[in-house]
Amino acid sequence: MQDLTKDNKLVSNSTKAKPDWIRVKAPVSPQYHQTAALLKEHKLHTVCEEAACPNVGECWEKKHATMMILGDTCTRACSFCNIKTGKPGAVDPFEPFRVADAVQKLGLSHVVITSVDRDDLDDGGSQHFVDVILAIRKMSPDTTIEILTPDFLRKEGAIEKIVVVKPDVFNHNLETVPRLYPSVRPGARYYHSLRLLDTVKTIDPTMFTKSGIMLGLGEERHEVMQVMDDLRAAQVDFLTIGQYLQPTPKHHPVIDFVTPEQFDTYASIARSKGFLMVASSPLTRSSYHAGDDYKIMKERRLDQHKDSCHGDS
Ligand code: SF4
Repeated sequence: MQDLTKDNKLVSNSTKAKPDWIRVKAPVSPQYHQTAALLKEHKLHTVCEEAACPNVGECWEKKHATMMILGDTCTRACSFCNIKTGKPGAVDPFEPFRVADAVQKLGLSHVVITSVDRDDLDDGGSQHFVDVILAIRKMSPDTTIEILTPDFLRKEGAIEKIVVVKPDVFNHNLETVPRLYPSVRPGARYYHSLRLLDTVKTIDPTMFTKSGIMLGLGEERHEVMQVMDDLRAAQVDFLTIGQYLQPTPKHHPVIDFVTPEQFDTYASIARSKGFLMVASSPLTRSSYHAGDDYKIMKERRLDQHKDSCHGDS
């Protein structure tokens, strides 16, 4: 097995044992099984399962599942990601209805919708995102909708099309620092992803934007600072930071297990840089506690608005 040094060279290693703070309980509750059964009945994929997320027991017990649309096969091959790579099948025109029906049956007040990359489609799957948002809104008008999109690289007009239908949160993860893109996200471009987030805010300054990175892939602290500064320059509201976990021995190795204290330090720095909301802990994932965090973020913006009104009076 191989590992990467800080200067990004491959060296042999043995699998790193997970520290205590990463251990999670096995999913066993009846509510977990109810969520699993409903998703299966609706023939829906989730990133919770496909990405082997460690929080699945906790989230599904609360019926929080992140639905993954546009199939289960991705056209990219990122070295951190457990999702199957290959030639995807045709887009299922009935999927928006099934997603909306599942959201209603689960009684979700906030839902996160993500997708695989669909470089094979002319619009990158953006119309399908729109169809899913509209279907959920029709069946569950009070449910807030967070989308976690691919980068729509070379798909002109894709972002604009989605912003127009006003998801409540537009999330796109940078995943790692720019130096590691060639080994971690080889099909993506750091500055393109950053521009995507900036474009969303330019089109609709009221839309909440969100992005996340994983730590433990070999990044340096000063590079994490650069990512924070870049995201603030793009006016991103919400930053998530979590520990990278290697899904299988074939994936990118874990270079470091970052301690909970270091995550807290990153959170304080990020807050001081002006993010409205920061979630930073070993088990943080972009959709972890997304509904609760959305409510807090909304309240904070209202408070800021009130403060600035008082300041003007
Ligand atoms: S953190 Fe996100 S991906 Fe993981 S189980 Fe929870 S909802 Fe699913």
